[in-house]
Amino acid sequence: MSKFAELGLEENLLKAIEDMGFTTPSDVQEKAIPVLLEKDTDMVSLAQTGTGKTAAFGFPMLQKIDIGSRTTQGLILSPTRELCLQITNEIKNYGKYCKGLNVVAVYGGASITDQARDIKKGAQIIVATPGRMKDMIGRRMIDISKIEYCVLDEADEMLNMGFYEDITEILSYSPDDKSTWLFSATMPREVSNIAKKFMHDPVEITVGGKNMGAENVSHEYYLVNARDRYNALKRLADANPSIFSVIFCRTKRDTQKVAELLIEDGYSAAALHGDLSQNQRDLVMKSFRNRQIQMLVATDVAARGIDVDDITHVINYQLSDEIETYTHRSGRTGRAGKTGISIVIASKSESRKIHAIEKIIQKKFILKEVPSGMEICEVQLFHLANKIKQTEINHDIDAYLPNINEVLEEFSKEELIKKVFSVEFTRFYNYYKKAKDLNVSAGDMSEGSKDTVRYFINIGGKDDFDWMSLKDFLKEMLHLDQDDLYKVDVKESFSFFNTDTKHQELVMDFFKDFELEGRRVSVEISKDTGRGKRSGRDRDRGGSRGGFKSRGGERRGGGDRRDDRRSSGGGDDRRGGSDRRSSGGGDDRRSSGSGDDRRGGGRSDGGRSDRGSSDRGRSDSGNSGFKGRSRRSSDKPAGSGTGGRRRRD
Ligand code: ADP
Ligand code: MG
Repeated sequence: MSKFAELGLEENLLKAIEDMGFTTPSDVQEKAIPVLLEKDTDMVSLAQTGTGKTAAFGFPMLQKIDIGSRTTQGLILSPTRELCLQITNEIKNYGKYCKGLNVVAVYGGASITDQARDIKKGAQIIVATPGRMKDMIGRRMIDISKIEYCVLDEADEMLNMGFYEDITEILSYSPDDKSTWLFSATMPREVSNIAKKFMHDPVEITVGGKNMGAENVSHEYYLVNARDRYNALKRLADANPSIFSVIFCRTKRDTQKVAELLIEDGYSAAALHGDLSQNQRDLVMKSFRNRQIQMLVATDVAARGIDVDDITHVINYQLSDEIETYTHRSGRTGRAGKTGISIVIASKSESRKIHAIEKIIQKKFILKEVPSGMEICEVQLFHLANKIKQTEINHDIDAYLPNINEVLEEFSKEELIKKVFSVEFTRFYNYYKKAKDLNVSAGDMSEGSKDTVRYFINIGGKDDFDWMSLKDFLKEMLHLDQDDLYKVDVKESFSFFNTDTKHQELVMDFFKDFELEGRRVSVEISKDTGRGKRSGRDRDRGGSRGGFKSRGGERRGGGDRRDDRRSSGGGDDRRGGSDRRSSGGGDDRRSSGSGDDRRGGGRSDGGRSDRGSSDRGRSDSGNSGFKGRSRRSSDKPAGSGTGGRRRRD
């Protein structure tokens, strides 16, 4: 008897399990399935992402409902459309030998009449997001008055997203004597409240943080100055030419920004966040699944539960405020028995979080060094060699060979190889040969250069600010980024903060004449730079040495790109050409034209663009909500968006 049969599952389900290649039930499956099969009970189940929860509730539900009847008997609520579709697919898969089964997904952003029609055909199981579900009940398109089983999947996330009221209302249309099964990765108070309110004597199951993929995921972190985050990200991408990754940022704005920078710098990247329309999100996900996008930059909510196999790297570009989020993020890789790497690009202030995360995941992080320019060049050279080796010869060029041979007649094989490599490689090499060391050792993380200014501001704790909310406030007001403001130190009636010197004018101008709730807010430059003790090594890497230090300094390809464009006459040329690599040089980015010709193209050495997909990748991402670089608007009302809890998406 198979292990799944021992849990009490019937033949038609066992057959599907065999087809899927599951051999051993996961912990949560082992604990939940027999209980749910045996009795009609409520259940609260705590288990991390990737522990196989869908099957833990899916199989019992399939076995218990009456497939001969067309009445809706099971309802599964889940936070996002992506998850909703994913669960629907899984359940259909599990139930592929259940003849007559009809599972319908209900979610926003798609035709409501189509969904209503599918339901009318008789859906025994509905998988829904709360918003659309509530709508459809209100319009009498769905009747859940006879459901017997209701699953609240990813309950913590649904509450996080503000679905409490929708859920309450939906459940008020369902019978009291149904069974409710709640699944959640974490158990914040809101979730236990909902459990108390809607459930009677639930069976409680907790599964130790053992993630299906956890065994296969290694955890690494890189310590850099906050301002070098983006450059470190690029180096990681360049050092892993076949990278296929999800990159997590904290906010929608950062998500969009990082994606845009990557695209401008010639990577195949795209953003996924809640400001995109459903249609745009679908396109992005489709391109990602098809590997036309190598780097998906996403918010936590948008990427929650995404089940794409073969993700090689999860990159925490910024850690989330809630460290529990890390497990969800890293669970995107190492799936289905594959190995994966979960990376944190951390500044020193975040190294505390790293240790806290280690406690949660019960694994140690490995501190890695950001690869040097020369290491990257070496990787890229070998990658290119292998790519040449594997490239199938295109015989359409045969006709031109005699002429080409004539041009290259005088060179030996060795010389030719050197030349071919130089064509592809010189620009890359030039770009990296002077690149600085981005690593910062743990004891060596002062903001470093003379380029910093410390300000005094006459608001503080008594105005209900803590360092985080003051930082957010300043960020919003000044339209600066997370990393542009640092050393925020809030006292009772005043505070300090730092920016780079280049922002000094902006800051002083802005606060020249600024009121908050009727009170004059003033900012002065503080004599103390807030730098604290500096080690000798510190001074060494400071501005005195000159050289590479500005953020824009480390862009691909340097400045020669422009000439290149001129000589190659028109953007189209560059599409298939090897010089795509060089896109986005220095200031160029701002001064040159529409930017359209730069975006979305697969990198010529991207390892995946050789499927001829770069053009499609381009148009996909072109449709996906990139409206050019986000501009700093100066028309935001003062005081907006500073209070209350920040939503993560
Ligand atoms: P969760 O909802 O807990 O995040 P999922 O239900 O999405 O996890 O499952 C994660 C992945 O593990 C899916 O790809 C699923 O098909 C697979 N999976 C689930 N149960 C098993 C099992 N017993 N053996 C192997 N793979 C499984
Ligand atoms: Mg799930």
